[in-house]
Amino acid sequence: MINPLSYRGGAFDRASLARHDADPAELARHPGARFLVYWRGLHPVDPARPVALRLEPALVLPLIAALDPPALLLGIEDEAPLIALDLSAAEGHGDSGPHLDPSGGWGWQGLRAIGALLPAGESALLAYARGMLLWRSRTRFCSVCGATLRFEEGGHVGTCTNAACATQHYPRTDPAVIVLVVDQAGRVLLGRQPQWTPGLYSCLAGFVEPGEALEEAAAREVFEEAGVRIGDVRYVASQPWPFPSSLMVGFTATASGADPVPDKREIEDVRWFTRADLDRFGSAGVPGPDGHLLPGPDSIARLLIERWRRG
Ligand SMILES: [Zn+2]
Repeated sequence: MINPLSYRGGAFDRASLARHDADPAELARHPGARFLVYWRGLHPVDPARPVALRLEPALVLPLIAALDPPALLLGIEDEAPLIALDLSAAEGHGDSGPHLDPSGGWGWQGLRAIGALLPAGESALLAYARGMLLWRSRTRFCSVCGATLRFEEGGHVGTCTNAACATQHYPRTDPAVIVLVVDQAGRVLLGRQPQWTPGLYSCLAGFVEPGEALEEAAAREVFEEAGVRIGDVRYVASQPWPFPSSLMVGFTATASGADPVPDKREIEDVRWFTRADLDRFGSAGVPGPDGHLLPGPDSIARLLIERWRRG
């Protein structure tokens, strides 16, 4: 059984049609409102319950007035607003975040650390909140004229306050392709970037460029990074990857089995591995007997590899 992909599968109502006139600061005063909060890359986590914690108004309302950027409407849940708040400006305690919970029952964790532990729909909800809040924190001024932005439509659209410009800015998603390449000898092509954890090998990947189809990007990236020509490029699945704003689009492809040559820029090593080799890979940060590691269990790279391993 292959685990479902993390960060997708959310069934919540994004309330796209209700956003038009929505004022998140006003919606935050709804008695049933719940809040997904974020602090400098960390999310509140209750170790006893694998869910995205929805905080109650009493815990966060005292902080809302001072928020910059302000609250953002994620959608409707149980007939009440679900609101995202970036508390990064709040004073915190080291890497443990601001102290909001009087009962002290939960702490703060990065999404990569908890993504695979959460049900897919819950990790999808946190990915959505994180992606939106990161975009908002990095989109403060108009990229056309430099004026400040005014956020509308529940916080999902930034409109330039310079009336002569009035450009609207939308949440950013950068498509990236990731490719599991196999050869006729039953081997898989995996590479590693120099900044990765020692021993970690993964599928080759890269960003799609303007004027390029997804399959073309896949072929270009594999050739650039490994010097290998691929064919029979087939779509498998896609995955939101809010680190900070990617959409990973996963493919399989075939190749002749020619010796790969790493580009020595993005990729320091790239090799063909057999299924028997992969059986000797470690995971969860613990290298196997050859010193090799599989990518994280929350990643589409891991899903592509496990699908192939299990035939
Ligand atoms: Zn402008």
